[in-house]
Amino acid sequence: MKNICVYCGSNPGVREEYADAARNLARHLAGHGIGVVYGGASKGLMGVLADSMLAAGGSVVGVIPEALKAREIAHRNLTELHVVNSMHERKALMAELSDAFVALPGGFGTLEEIVEMLTWAQLQIHQKPCGLLNVDGYFDSLLAYFEHAEAEGFLRPQHRKMLLVAENSAELVSLFEEYRAPTVQKWVR
Ligand code: AMP
Repeated sequence: MKNICVYCGSNPGVREEYADAARNLARHLAGHGIGVVYGGASKGLMGVLADSMLAAGGSVVGVIPEALKAREIAHRNLTELHVVNSMHERKALMAELSDAFVALPGGFGTLEEIVEMLTWAQLQIHQKPCGLLNVDGYFDSLLAYFEHAEAEGFLRPQHRKMLLVAENSAELVSLFEEYRAPTVQKWVR
């Protein structure tokens, strides 16, 4: 595993635990020679993650749309910054550059990005692992929703289980390394 794509809040959240988790993930990845691909911003958990990776000597590749860069929130000291034309181009490039996808706490942006990668995995567009870093139970209600979707026949158990969940970075990276993509088709019936 060379590069992991990290989706996380462009806000920091109200609890220091969220920033701590971003710092721990960065230290773990940098320490294992794994680079980060992320949205390229300097703000929120995204900024904490990038700064901590760089401080630990890790590689950080940002992918940011021109419109967000123009608002001067792009991180200025990344290993590499790709400036693209649209949010769709950005997500496609982030996916192409990465070997796995992880979400830390965040809002709509974080959620749509990780769920899009799960959707592509379900359709076998890629075979890469997807996971949540469930910092202090932040994602518990989302996980309950996915269980509900499975119980109601909208999600196969094998597809729900594609979403790997861990409370710390080391555990999540080892789940990523063991991951084998399911081969079942999407449709429940
Ligand atoms: P959110 O969770 O809504 O804060 O959105 C964060 C996610 O969406 C990140 O993983 C980014 O890829 C993308 N994103 C949303 N807002 C920004 C921003 N201001 N700058 C860069 N990326 C952003």
